[in-house]
Amino acid sequence: MGKTKIAFFDAKDYDKNSFMLANQNEEFDITYYEARLSSDTYKLAEGADAVCVFVNDDINAFVVDKLHEMGIKLIALRCAGYNNVDIEHAFGKVHIVRVPAYSPYAVAEHAMALLLTSIRRIHKAYIRTKDFNFSLSGLTGFDLHGKTVGVVGTGKIGRIFIDICRGFGMHVIAYDKFPAKDTDIEYVSLDELWQRSDIISLHCPLTDENHHMINADSMDKMKKGVVIINTSRGALIDTEALVEGIKARKIGAACLDVYEEESNVFFHDYSGHIVNDDTLARLISMPNVIVTSHQAFLTNEALSNIADTTLNNVREFFEKDTCSNEVCYKCDKVGGCPQKHEKKCF
Ligand code: NAD
Repeated sequence: MGKTKIAFFDAKDYDKNSFMLANQNEEFDITYYEARLSSDTYKLAEGADAVCVFVNDDINAFVVDKLHEMGIKLIALRCAGYNNVDIEHAFGKVHIVRVPAYSPYAVAEHAMALLLTSIRRIHKAYIRTKDFNFSLSGLTGFDLHGKTVGVVGTGKIGRIFIDICRGFGMHVIAYDKFPAKDTDIEYVSLDELWQRSDIISLHCPLTDENHHMINADSMDKMKKGVVIINTSRGALIDTEALVEGIKARKIGAACLDVYEEESNVFFHDYSGHIVNDDTLARLISMPNVIVTSHQAFLTNEALSNIADTTLNNVREFFEKDTCSNEVCYKCDKVGGCPQKHEKKCF
């Protein structure tokens, strides 16, 4: 068998650099495309054995069928989340592998960077001093020490974020659909978390059941002035409701690394354009909102781990009977996938 051919979508310079380094022995034949994989671009994958995709590629049922018809066996996600793939439709047709962890530190540290920037007004101070404006008016922040942070999702990233918060002397409460048994984390109901938290940070995956978990109702239950951090997935928050909550002064600040309509704008340079998304424009115009464009993962360590694990996933899939990082729609369900990652899911 010749080299495994990979059609690599949504390729950015930093992706190419890390994958070229991980593939320096040219074990794989990788073709890099700037385009995202979608119903319009799937034909670029003709002749490949696998496609490699990221968070905003759209692998809907139509794309899955087309990949299957073209003989593509594997969708290799170079990220942890897979809400952008129709995994149920893909079952029995195209296998899906992902990178379950590449640097949970990168994301947890970014969440804290956003929080500190926001509450100590570093984003404002930076611009002021660049302009030789050394006034302190309007820059008053608050101590994190002694504040209660509510963490939603206590997996790899959530737990590291909790450790960081504890280092700051914060009191941590948490909600998880599947609470961990091996920790001293204080688990509470979601309602209690909304009510007690001074800061709320989301670290759970996006599923059908938690879509818009932060909405007008949940915001009603929150403390006035609460700071919301989202480094998970944009659609966990009803953005229109968030804008209203900020306008009503109920929400003290929002730190957003993800946005529900991000696939239309994030990762592109629109600095010379009029952005059509009024909700995003309104958010960005607010002094107490910080938006980064799905940047939390972007460290050298994470990029290198992503490239190594993705190529390992492809190698394992084509050379062995096992597929340790495969996901299928059954893996998510109670009882799980009968293959339990010891074999391919189908
Ligand atoms: P993980 O799988 O280790 O942990 C997720 C936790 O969420 C688990 O403990 C799980 O039980 C819990 N959970 C599942 N459904 C839930 C629900 N409905 N409500 C509350 N908790 C629920 O995942 P992780 O590595 O910690 O990543 C967390 C999320 O971070 C990912 O799903 C992804 O969306 C996001 N992420 C973002 C970036 C970025 O660059 N911004 C990078 C990596 C991951």
